[in-house]
Amino acid sequence: MRDGYGREIRYLRLSVTERCNLRCRYCMPPEGVCKKRREEMLTEDEMIGAVEAAAGLGFRKLRITGGEPLIKKNILSLCRRAAAVKGIEELCVTTNGLLLPELAAGLRAAGVRRVNVSLDTLDPDKYAFMTRGGALEQALRGLEAALSAGFERVKVNAVLIGGFNEDEIGALGELTLRYPVDVRFIELMPMYGGGDFGREAYLPCGAVLERFPQARAQPEDGGVARLYRLPEAMGSIGLISAVSAHFCGLCSRIRLTADGKLKPCLHSGEEFPIKGLEPEEVREQFRRAVVAKPRCHEELSFRRRSRAGRSMNRIGG
Ligand code: SAM
Ligand code: SF4
Repeated sequence: MRDGYGREIRYLRLSVTERCNLRCRYCMPPEGVCKKRREEMLTEDEMIGAVEAAAGLGFRKLRITGGEPLIKKNILSLCRRAAAVKGIEELCVTTNGLLLPELAAGLRAAGVRRVNVSLDTLDPDKYAFMTRGGALEQALRGLEAALSAGFERVKVNAVLIGGFNEDEIGALGELTLRYPVDVRFIELMPMYGGGDFGREAYLPCGAVLERFPQARAQPEDGGVARLYRLPEAMGSIGLISAVSAHFCGLCSRIRLTADGKLKPCLHSGEEFPIKGLEPEEVREQFRRAVVAKPRCHEELSFRRRSRAGRSMNRIGG
């Protein structure tokens, strides 16, 4: 389906839970999420119904995210059913990786083709600090499990944070020399409820190219990352300039939150509820959400926070 600005919208990001086993400072408030009644959240059947509605309207790519999707008890069943929806060509999962040692093989067997593992640092103390208590070793075991499970592609997502990990751009980027992974550097976004980072934390992706002058530009792959490759690397380095140079013109996404709200734009408070609706009404809400996609979101900076109205774990980053 095309939106009002001619963009083809074919990518649904489905957040399956707001809860998480980490508390990353840029994503979640320290106290975590306030408990919601189960009746407020989408059921598995409603999530699959939404995927069917989207696929019927031409969506082809589905990413399961959260909160942390792998803490959902029914995650394998959800993935299996979502992968089987007619029209869905590519099912991906974004995870912090902690539960991949137990779940990677099951996810692959359920039809997940690609996995993104979030990892902002390779230093155990820094990892524990930024995630408010997580164990780096567990995340690295998760990454290894993903690499052994036979996914078509494994990516590492690293949020670039000045004063925190710019001294690790080299080590993170060089993961592409040691493993068949793509590394995506994502600019820190000033999200609602996402911590009080100072001006210096908002590091533009250009810092990655300064660190890797030998990186060669690669052809685009239809996504929002600008791609580069180090000589002899097994994977690419991607730059997602979410703040310094937004990519709204390339946006092909709609998000569905775990409490059943379609969000046409990550940084807008506009939402279209689908909880409890009949299938034809769900389709209609998808149509409305696509038509309502703004041309562009407002400028973001350390002073101008996202107008999303929700913290990232409640949207599905
Ligand atoms: N829990 C899973 C994970 O961490 O991969 C999936 C959900 S998380 C919200 C999805 C992605 O959003 C992660 O890669 C995370 O680093 C990113 N993210 C969260 N808050 C962000 C922010 N303020 N700026 C940029 N990226 C952010
Ligand atoms: Fe959890 Fe992912 Fe948010 Fe970190 S970024 S708190 S792992 S949802």
